[in-house]
Amino acid sequence: MKRTLLFSVLIGLIFSVSAQKQDGYYPGRTIDFPDIPGYVTLIADLHTHTALSDGYVWPNIRIEEAVRDSLDAISITDHIEYQPHSHDIPHPDRNRSFEIASEAAKNQPLIVINGAEITRNMPPGHCNAIFLEDVNKLNISDSVKAFKEAKKQGAFVFWNHPNWEAQAIDGVAKMKDFHKKLIKKEMLHGIEVVNDVTYSDEALQIALDYDLTIMGTSDIHGLVDWQYDVPTGGHRPVTLVFAKEKSEASLKEALFNKRTIVFFNNMLIGREEYLVPLIYASLEVKGAKYINTWAGKTNVAIVQIENKSDSPLILKNTSNFNFHDHGEIVVLKPHFVTELRVKPLENLKEFELNFEVISTVTAPKTHPEITIKVIIDKE
Ligand code: ZN
Repeated sequence: MKRTLLFSVLIGLIFSVSAQKQDGYYPGRTIDFPDIPGYVTLIADLHTHTALSDGYVWPNIRIEEAVRDSLDAISITDHIEYQPHSHDIPHPDRNRSFEIASEAAKNQPLIVINGAEITRNMPPGHCNAIFLEDVNKLNISDSVKAFKEAKKQGAFVFWNHPNWEAQAIDGVAKMKDFHKKLIKKEMLHGIEVVNDVTYSDEALQIALDYDLTIMGTSDIHGLVDWQYDVPTGGHRPVTLVFAKEKSEASLKEALFNKRTIVFFNNMLIGREEYLVPLIYASLEVKGAKYINTWAGKTNVAIVQIENKSDSPLILKNTSNFNFHDHGEIVVLKPHFVTELRVKPLENLKEFELNFEVISTVTAPKTHPEITIKVIIDKE
C-alpha cells in the first residue's frame, strides 16, 4: 500500500514537472535569483573546460553558453598539466583560454576570470586556482610550489570534486593531511560540494568543519545544453555569490568571505546566514482573503505566495494550521504564484505559517525553518 502511494506521489511529481513546462511555468534557461539585503546575487560557474585542455569546445562557446544562462561570472579552468589534445592543438601558453574567452566576452555583461586546474593525484587531487595573473607560472611539477605560486598571485583556491570516485572509490570526500596543511597555510579556501551531476554531504560537512567556502560548479567539458538537458528545463550547477557590487574585485572578496550558496538540481545548499535571507528574498505574499460561499464567509483563507527564484521551494508544514488543498508538503514552483488554502479555524486578521524548506540544506540532512507572515487583505 505504502509503495503504491509512494509510486503515485512520484508519478504525480513527474507529471507536475512536465505540466509545469507545458503550462508555461518553466522559467526559461536564464538562471535568476533575487538579491539579498546588503548584497547583489552574482551567478557564477567557476570550473569549466575547453579544447585547450581536455574539453571539446573552443572558449567562445563557453562564453555563448554563459551569456544564454545569464551568468554574471565564469572562469575557464583548463588543466595546467593534463593536455590530451596537445598533438592537435600545441598549447604552450596556459593563459590562452582566458585571453580568447575575454575577447569573446568583451561586449557582454559577463566577468571572465583567469583560472586553471592544478591537476594532481590524491592528495591533493584536483584544485582550481582562480583570479590568477599568469597561469604559466603554476606549470611546475612540485605540488606545494604550485600552490605557493597561486597564493603569491592572490588566487582563490578550491578543492575540486573531493567525492570523485576515481580518487575516492566510495564517493566519500575525506580530508587528508595535505589539505589540512594547505588550509593552515591559507593556500586552500573552498571546496566543491557540488561538481557536475554529483552532490556530497560529506564535502558540505568538511566545508563547515574547516570553515571553507561552499562551491558548486559544472566542470563542463562538452556542451552545457546536452549535459544538463537545458532545452527541457534543466540547469547547470552554479555558485550564487553575494557580492557588494557586480565586479571582479567584489566577487573575489565575497568568495574569500564565504558568502555563497550552491544551486544544484533544484536544490539550494549553503550557510544558514545566506540561505535564509535568500529564501525570504524569494518569497512574497501577494494576497490573502477568506473564502465566501453562498452560505456566507468562511474561516478558510486563500493565500497567494510568489516564488521569485529559479529554484522550486519544497516546504514542509510545521504550523499549527492544516491546509484545505495540500497535505504537509507544499511545492512553490519557480517564478510562479502558488495558492494555498489555510485553515486558521477562526477569522484571524493575520497569522503566521511555519515551514521547513526541505529542498534546501544548511548542513547534511538539515533544513532551515522559515515563517511567512500573512495579513488578510483589506476589503
Ligand atoms: Zn575540471
